[in-house]
Amino acid sequence: MTEPLIRTQDLRRTYQMGSTTVSALDGVSLTIDRGSFVALVGPSGSGKSTLLNMLGGLDRPNSGEIWVGAKDIARATDRQLVEFRRDQVGFIFQSFNLLPTNRAWENVALPLMLAGVGRAERRKRAELLLGQVGLAGRTEHRPSELSGGEQQRVAVARALANHPVLILADEPTGNLDSRTGREVLTLLQNLVRTQDVTLLMVTHDLNAAKFADRILHMRDGQLERDETVDQAEVAAV
Ligand code: ADP
Ligand code: MG
Repeated sequence: MTEPLIRTQDLRRTYQMGSTTVSALDGVSLTIDRGSFVALVGPSGSGKSTLLNMLGGLDRPNSGEIWVGAKDIARATDRQLVEFRRDQVGFIFQSFNLLPTNRAWENVALPLMLAGVGRAERRKRAELLLGQVGLAGRTEHRPSELSGGEQQRVAVARALANHPVLILADEPTGNLDSRTGREVLTLLQNLVRTQDVTLLMVTHDLNAAKFADRILHMRDGQLERDETVDQAEVAAV
């Protein structure tokens, strides 16, 4: 049985650029099931990142509703949003966003530090997570001592640190070659299959989107198409 984790209703967001108003989201209503892997595709400027940021509590709509579980994100206070992001959401970015002077395990442990977890416990959990993403032998490395694919794996482990219900990834394979990108996508796919987590991934790459269970196509701030992916069919191609 599936139940929605996310529900938005008529989401709108405009940006003021001098005297012109840009409509980044123009009435987006969607639901995303708990435990699903959803890709968000569309041309540059179609509103993908804006939508992702709204769902992660990084930005607010001008109007409309955003429910994540029982929480009304659109109407939460700033303080509630900080807690929501810290406790419920893991973020993965195109450029990895690791702290360059920190070791792999320290990067993974950062969200745990913000949540007040003690150092010994942080280290233990970070090492476990790095093992889960295939980096058991790299815990002491700094980002400059890791390949791009390895750095993104560290970022994936960091996104999982606080047991989030939701992982939001904006072009996670955008800085990786295609083979390394596929490895990271397979890792993300396996996470959704084995852990109690929901993943929404922005990508402009249709081949990357095919790793998801469902592809939402955006255009001009609206959802244009909602496509279900049959993974058995993808595997057979
Ligand atoms: P995508 O991620 O699909 O490329 P975005 O969500 O980043 O698209 O942007 C959607 C539209 O909103 C674009 O026209 C973009 O220029 C505009 N936009 C996004 N963020 C801002 C901002 N902070 N200020 C002004 N305009 C913005
Ligand atoms: Mg974007």
